[in-house]
Amino acid sequence: MKQVSLNNVVKTYDKQTTVLHNINVTIEAGEFFVLVGPSGCGKSTMLRMIAGLEDITAGEMYIDEQVVNDLPPVKRELSMVFQNYALYPHLTVAQNISFGLHAKKMSKATIQQRVEDVAKTLQLTAYLTRKPRELSGGQRQRVALARAIVSDAKICLMDEPLSNLDAKLRTHMRAEIKQLQRKLGITMIYVTHDQIEAMTMGDRIMILHEGEIQQIGKPIDIYNYP
Ligand code: ADP
Ligand code: ADP
Repeated sequence: MKQVSLNNVVKTYDKQTTVLHNINVTIEAGEFFVLVGPSGCGKSTMLRMIAGLEDITAGEMYIDEQVVNDLPPVKRELSMVFQNYALYPHLTVAQNISFGLHAKKMSKATIQQRVEDVAKTLQLTAYLTRKPRELSGGQRQRVALARAIVSDAKICLMDEPLSNLDAKLRTHMRAEIKQLQRKLGITMIYVTHDQIEAMTMGDRIMILHEGEIQQIGKPIDIYNYP
């Protein structure tokens, strides 16, 4: 389990547009931390900075005790799930899941075992040889999740991962993601527009407004909801 800390973090684009102002927050190891706020308030920018896909203009970011401002994404031991899942259309489900593992010098047997294990957890065993276009939306979502957890990443970043699913599947996947996060002890940083997702999944919720933290608290404090 890993902790993520932002200390006076600022993000400015083109030397003039500041989109995040002095962000101070510590996301605890194993916490399910939800980021909400209106479109354009800086949620994706914050996720991308944590992932190492954007430079930090000022301030420090820590993973556990280590300052990671200059640490490249692959060294951060985190995984990311996007709204559109970003699966490779020409690769099979098994190849999509194992894609990141080949860079880690793992043996073929180890990779195969991992793929089998994670496929079982996410009920994808029957689909390993299919291509993404042969899957339903929920199954694709699960492949993206499988790819995110197969590497044993201790931090997972999700940017509106359920927004393309129908209501029934969203309800189901909400529970599935939450359960998996708990079971694996993943530190989750989860962006959503959906108040129900925030309330039912989040240990804490942070509301961003025009690049500033407006409020951080438990769901009951934010929405008056147990
Ligand atoms: P959100 O995810 O909350 O919708 P974003 O983090 O995508 O917000 O964007 C925050 C602000 O930063 C927006 O005003 C957006 O226009 C601006 N922004 C995002 N990326 C860039 C970029 N590459 N260059 C300049 N401005 C950007
Ligand atoms: P490649 O030709 O690149 O090895 P494969 O489709 O054979 O592509 O497999 C990709 C990865 O997923 C491999 O590491 C393989 O061990 C694993 N894999 C493939 N099919 C299965 C399967 N049915 N069950 C478990 N793991 C599989």
